[in-house]
Formats: sequence, C-alpha cells, structure tokens
Amino acid sequence: MAREVYVEGRFVSEDQATVSVFDRGLLFGDSIYEVTAVIDGRLIDNDLHLARLERSLGELEIPMPLSPEAIVEVQTQLIARNRLREGVIYLQISRGIADRNFGYAQDIKPTFFAFTQARDIRDTAALREGIRVAIVDDQRWARRDIKTTMLLAQVQAKHAAAQRDCKEAWLVEDGFVTEGASSTAYIVTADNRIVTRANSRAILPGCTRRAVIKVADQLGLTVDQSRFTVEEARNASEAFLTSASSLVTPVIEIAGHAIGDGKPGPVTRLLQKTYLDLALGSPAPVQ
Ligand code: PLP
Repeated sequence: MAREVYVEGRFVSEDQATVSVFDRGLLFGDSIYEVTAVIDGRLIDNDLHLARLERSLGELEIPMPLSPEAIVEVQTQLIARNRLREGVIYLQISRGIADRNFGYAQDIKPTFFAFTQARDIRDTAALREGIRVAIVDDQRWARRDIKTTMLLAQVQAKHAAAQRDCKEAWLVEDGFVTEGASSTAYIVTADNRIVTRANSRAILPGCTRRAVIKVADQLGLTVDQSRFTVEEARNASEAFLTSASSLVTPVIEIAGHAIGDGKPGPVTRLLQKTYLDLALGSPAPVQ
C-alpha cells in the first residue's frame, strides 16, 4: 500500500507528493520540523511537540500554517489513512516559496507537509541492550534551541558515529557534552544524581527530556541540570539518552569506554519503564 502523505492541505499518495524547487526549506534550510512518536496508534507527548513547533516558528517569524488543533487533525488523519500502529509522524514547515533570494517578503505563505514512518519504537534492541555512542565535535550554529532542518552537522556527526559502529554521536564543545546529534544526553553519577545540560541556546529543549525530568522528580530522583565533561561521562555509573523516537535508551559505551559494568543501569531502567507507562497512560505506581 502506497503511503499517504499530507502536502499543502491535501492527502496524496507519496509518489504524487511534490514541493517546489523554490521552496526556502530546500534552498536555505529555512524551515522547522517536529517528530512525534506513535505507539498503539496514539501520539506521545504531542502537546509538547506542538508547543515547541510554535516556539521554533516564532523565533524565525514564520507564521503557524494551521492551528495546533488543525495540525492534530492532520496527524490523526495520517495515522488512520496509513493504519499506523507504531512509528513517527514528521511535520515540516518552511517559510514558503519565492525566487531565490536571501531576503524574504513578510507575507510569504509557509509550506506545510507531513508524513508517517512505520517503525518499532517500544521494543528495540537499543532499548533492551543499550547502545554505543561516539564523541564528535559540535559544529552546529549558535541557535540550537530552534528545531530547524539545517541538519548537515548532525548528518556528519551521525555518519562519523556509524563508522565507529556507534548508534549516536554525543557532541562536544569546550570539553563539555552539549547533547546527542538527535537526542538529549544524560549521565548518572556514583551518588545517583542524574546530570543533563540545562536548556539554553546551546541545545534543543527536548520534549522527552521535559517529560523524563518530571518522571524523575516524581520518583524522588535528583536531577542536576548542569554541564558534564567527556571525562565525567566516561566515569559515570550510568548513561542514557532520550528522544521522541528512542524514548529512554541506555548508553553502555562512550568512545570505546564501557560505562559502569557495560550494561543498562538501574536508574536508567526505572526511568525507561516509568516514562513509557506514563506516556501510554497506564501510570506505574510512583513511591
Ligand atoms: N537534541 C537534538 C539535537 C535533537 O535533534 C532531538 C530530537 O530530534 C533531541 C535533542 C530530543 O528531542 P525530543 O525529545 O523532543 O525528541
């Protein structure tokens, strides 16, 4: 069955979907995107993703193409039309179409398209066994809090990681880990503190990060929102990462160095399970 995608107000077969070569998303990376996980046909943390979408667009002064409610309707239609049980929905909104020129008119109409990708989210080898991450220089621009499609530095970082047989790259600037190429980075210290970088222009404010910090608070775990070095990460008792599509994924090796005993740790496991139970709407008993 050909996938149905949404382009500019219409649902069409993927082989019929087109975007202009003059779209500024294509020419300048002048566009914003969001990815929401779908599990059991339900959108996970979607309110957080739509709020971040609105904020990212606002930072670039691109108008929202539809109301949040109308975007949810598009997402819901995509899930139904493609019978999506598990996977992700990708949304992209560019500033719009105009003859190639760095400057842009204020009244240009944004281009909006969206599609589904079916894939396992809840039961993957990465979630069960953990993953290895590589350390790569952070070569991104200075506004990483905006979720733009300008992702070449991340593409290159992920490629470098894959060449080292790693599933993710942790990006490093001035000796400190900023975040993963497409995820938020965390360590757990010997005294059981969860450390993750505070939100700022240096990182994307992860939606899963926000939800997981709330879960950690409810579990009575200490979350220290501060920077950590590569050395601190190597010496951590646990490490993990979060994102919409990878949930809470254990990190068992950093740049060839085993973390803790080289297996997913207990704090990571507790967060992994509690977050998923909450996201799916069947709360685990929180002590
Ligand atoms: N940091 C970066 C650079 C990302 O690209 C992503 C997700 O794509 C994240 C963090 C995690 O964000 P979220 O939890 O909202 O998926």
